[in-house]
Amino acid sequence: MAIARGYAATDASKPLTPFTFERREPNDDDVVIDIKYAGICHSDIHTVRNEWKNAVYPIVPGHEIAGVVKAVGSKVTKFKVGDHVGVGCFVDSCVGCATRDLDNEHYMPGLVQTYNDTDTLNGNARTQGGYSDSIVVKEGYVLSIPDNLPLDASAPLLCAGITLYSPLRRWGAGPGKKVAIVGMGGLGHMGVKLGAAMGADVTVLSQSLSKKEDGLKLGAKEYYATNDPETFKKLAVSFDLIICTVSAEIDWNAYLGLLKPKGSMVVVGAPENPIPVHAFSLIFGAKELSGSMIGSIKETQEMLDFCGEHDIVSEIETINIQQVNEAYERVLKSDVRYRFVIDMASLDA
Ligand code: NAP
Ligand code: ZN
Repeated sequence: MAIARGYAATDASKPLTPFTFERREPNDDDVVIDIKYAGICHSDIHTVRNEWKNAVYPIVPGHEIAGVVKAVGSKVTKFKVGDHVGVGCFVDSCVGCATRDLDNEHYMPGLVQTYNDTDTLNGNARTQGGYSDSIVVKEGYVLSIPDNLPLDASAPLLCAGITLYSPLRRWGAGPGKKVAIVGMGGLGHMGVKLGAAMGADVTVLSQSLSKKEDGLKLGAKEYYATNDPETFKKLAVSFDLIICTVSAEIDWNAYLGLLKPKGSMVVVGAPENPIPVHAFSLIFGAKELSGSMIGSIKETQEMLDFCGEHDIVSEIETINIQQVNEAYERVLKSDVRYRFVIDMASLDA
């Protein structure tokens, strides 16, 4: 077993601290990855603070992993030493077992998440994530990062990127479609970039206008503040698709009022409490309220290739791992432009 170094949460209320642990012995079909960068997703914070009531400590978070292949097992065919690769939110699924449903593997019960999960298909150890220097992952769950994209700013594509790409594609974002992205954070800013690259007419709905200039630069046509009640009057019945990335409680009924008839609102942000929706908010206008979670490995690779073709990466602020707790506080204050990425070389500092 190889020893990995990283940072872990040991309790819901304590800061992350240095942590040493074992990575499993690689099998024939495994890829050993030197982790270079890991993005900080708001889900990392929800998880380590046990807001989703599923934390099992210690937890090494991190599911936006970008690195370089260090070694490959004898049966690995897709990767070689030195390749730029990524790992996202899951490291195994039931695709190899029963369903073989390559489009929906991430929605099936056999999913093994990259961290805070039990590796049921591989010896039942706890999985530990990307705030660390190395990881061992089955070839089928490793993604290829296009060579023209920088590794650091590509890391957030592995979660934030695919989480927006998937619903944008599923609900047909493209020319002639009016799409609103709610929340200009890690996920939201990727939605602006990806939606604009798909040819959709993108509007940002942010709490204030403080990031308006950036939003327009990233590809939004319009940008409105949701703390201004006039916004909800002005934009009533405007959008074909609204994707909500907000991690806190919002007035769902007010946002549903912004949809055109038969429009769709897709929830990707995951606040702690249930969503209160009035039946009439859906009945009037035959509106749809749906959800979406990351994407399959197949779609994640499609997204990375799309990003390679369109030169799309995340807007990042790179930090040393020693700043991770401070970065969490800044994410909670929406004070990140637009994703923190940990430079794993700082583990040596
Ligand atoms: P983030 O960077 O913190 O962005 C969230 C944005 O929501 C903030 O930038 C802010 O945008 C807005 N916001 C925050 N508090 C708000 C409030 N009280 N009222 C209205 N808007 C508020 O977080 P993220 O990493 O993008 O993640 C967002 C959510 O998606 C989290 O709940 C996360 O767990 C979830 N998530 C889901 C999936 C999935 O597969 N479905 C994948 C990854 C993450 P403005 O400053 O522009 O208002
Ligand atoms: Zn995430």
